[in-house]
Amino acid sequence: MIPSIPSQLEPVLEAVREAARLCTSVQRTVTDDVLEKKDKSPVTVADFGSQALVLRAVREAFPEDPIIAEEGSAELRKDENSHLRDRMMNEINTIRPDATFEDVASWIDFGDNREGGDRFWTLDPIDGTKGFLRGEQYAISLGMLEEGEIKLGILALPNFGSFLPEVGDTGVLFIAVRGEGVAAQPLSGGAFVEVKVSGLEDVSKARFCESVESGHSDHSWSGQVAKRLGITEESVRMDSQAKYGALSMGAADIYLRLPTRPGYREMIWDHAAGVIVVEEAGGKVSDVDGKPLDFTRGYRLEENRGVIVSCGPFHQQIVDTVIEVEKNL
Ligand code: AMP
Ligand code: MG
Repeated sequence: MIPSIPSQLEPVLEAVREAARLCTSVQRTVTDDVLEKKDKSPVTVADFGSQALVLRAVREAFPEDPIIAEEGSAELRKDENSHLRDRMMNEINTIRPDATFEDVASWIDFGDNREGGDRFWTLDPIDGTKGFLRGEQYAISLGMLEEGEIKLGILALPNFGSFLPEVGDTGVLFIAVRGEGVAAQPLSGGAFVEVKVSGLEDVSKARFCESVESGHSDHSWSGQVAKRLGITEESVRMDSQAKYGALSMGAADIYLRLPTRPGYREMIWDHAAGVIVVEEAGGKVSDVDGKPLDFTRGYRLEENRGVIVSCGPFHQQIVDTVIEVEKNL
């Protein structure tokens, strides 16, 4: 189903498109030289710029709602970061010419509500910073939760066309509304189309994806799981919630995020939007023990470890295999 989009949400969607434009513009400045110097300033500039644009719109449309987001303006205010501040303002002013730094700092700080209420928003202004710097996949991810249930997800994948050319070279924007379905649109505009998982039933034919970063998901564990399931194809490695995007569109069938260390708990903004996009497309999401993800525990998924995402039919089989392999790791 294509969800109906309340008019109150239109400016928020537009802000996510603007944030994607800003990130795309900054990503073009990442040269080999920047990478060699291990200079993270482009990602910082885009991170703050993206958060400012999106939170301005969320606060204006939903003034009462708390927002939990990754960044705060304190870093940007430091004297030694004046170059970052100037670069960010240049980017913001191409989109919002009248904005002053004080305006932008206040928009960024709309995201400082760490508690959350019955209903709150959560934003990752750039998910997949490593991918962003490599010129690969990253996401702008905005979720809205009510009493622990994800009700709305907006996910922008500005580089998704390099993975799936059908979506166009401007990337793709997803919107998922609980109970109403999920739709996608080219980031440059155009019609929304319905999004559906593959529904593949033969697990041995599954295409599976995982993080590029071996520190974020255990590649050796997933490799053994794939082998046991009879999957012969190599995993597709990509950064960010683009993995949820790939599952939802039927371009992948399994996404494994297998903990690399015992105590790590996932951040809610790394998953909220992606999870509802996949669920509304007909897929399944659980943690590695098969438990549903519990979003009522603050800004981490305190009750869960890792994440397993699938197109549906063989979800339990994957969970069982993941656990079996873990016993012999
Ligand atoms: P990905 O691009 O899928 O590899 O995920 C990027 C996200 O991984 C970042 O936004 C971080 O919040 C998160 N992250 C950082 N450390 C870890 C870890 N040890 N295990 C899992 N995820 C992590
Ligand atoms: Mg993230």
